Amino acid sequence: MSEFKGVWVFSEKFDLALEMLGKAREIADKLHCELSTVLIGSNVGERANELTRHGADKVYLASDPALEHFQAEAYLGVLHSLVANYKPEVVLVGSTKNGKPLASRLATRLCVGCVPDCVRLDVDGEGKLVCDRITYGGSAFAKITFRGKPQIATVPQRAFEKPSPKERGGQVIKVDVKIESACTEVVGVKPLESSSVRIEDAKVIVSCGRGLQNKEDRVLLDELAQVLCGQVGCSRPLAEDRKWFSEWVGLSGHKVKPKLYIACGISGVIQHVAGIRDAKVVVAINKDEQAPIFEVADYGVVGDLYQILPALKEAIKKYVQ
Ligand SMILES: Cc1cc2nc3c(=O)[nH]c(=O)nc-3n(C[C@H](O)[C@H](O)[C@H](O)COP(=O)(O)OP(=O)(O)OC[C@H]3O[C@@H](n4cnc5c(N)ncnc54)[C@H](O)[C@@H]3O)c2cc1C
Repeated sequence: MSEFKGVWVFSEKFDLALEMLGKAREIADKLHCELSTVLIGSNVGERANELTRHGADKVYLASDPALEHFQAEAYLGVLHSLVANYKPEVVLVGSTKNGKPLASRLATRLCVGCVPDCVRLDVDGEGKLVCDRITYGGSAFAKITFRGKPQIATVPQRAFEKPSPKERGGQVIKVDVKIESACTEVVGVKPLESSSVRIEDAKVIVSCGRGLQNKEDRVLLDELAQVLCGQVGCSRPLAEDRKWFSEWVGLSGHKVKPKLYIACGISGVIQHVAGIRDAKVVVAINKDEQAPIFEVADYGVVGDLYQILPALKEAIKKYVQ
């Protein structure tokens, strides 16, 4: 019998840890083992109960003032000592900009594999974790299993639904951890200046691409987004090349799940579309009737966004008044 047992979840982003618990619970039930989470931070003990209510049987709590902010060496040291000691067979880590390197460094220390950005997870007939990740610019899924244990995978935000909380038993185990000294020091933390709603949580997104000629023309999108109580998004070139926005939608940007996604002047190549697969309704506005966005759109308008956006705003305004 294998010395590895149990499914573990860790993310320094608490909401993502809760999201992962639903799928992790399913995997633990299929493997007939316990589901545990690791909670690392300073004064975070009161959050343990929320983890058990979302499906964890055990919470390993590492609370120390030195762990208040994420630091790769310190967090890795804690996670590594726990995983090496308790030997879970599956370790799921939140796929954040901190979580991804953390998971791969953990895998390196343990000399095992790590599969990043898994959007589907299951267990095969031999009890092995099966990970699906998007590949070839969003046009295929790669199915990956592991040769060794623990099987380490990272999970992006909103890949799985957060389970509904339920009152259920659970054990909180306080662990004494040796904090590894860091090569870096956090000298300050400044929140990002962004809109109050994260684009991943927006119900309506009005998104623009290179069809937008000038930065100031963004007002057209802002106004439509405002009447629809939505958010403005964009394709990558508007953020990365033109620097008009700080974030974008797509394969290398945010994966969004709005009820309505309006793509204005976006050609709709695979890298962009990979980020809007879970949108319920896609509306495309593009002056090129051959634009690939029309292949994925539920509704398409062939025309100039400079004419259509103001007209659409006025029409919707009348409707919602
Ligand atoms: C590894 C990699 C990852 C990438 N990741 C992403 C990603 O996450 N997200 C992303 O978006 N891109 C990503 N890209 C870039 C991607 O390949 C495309 O270059 C990009 O999505 C194109 O952006 P666009 O549609 O805004 O511009 P374009 O392809 O230039 O399209 C502009 C569209 O606007 C239309 N248009 C022009 N004027 C008007 C008008 N007045 N009214 C209406 N329509 C008009 C045109 O007909 C055209 O279809 C990635 C690329 C690589 C290589």
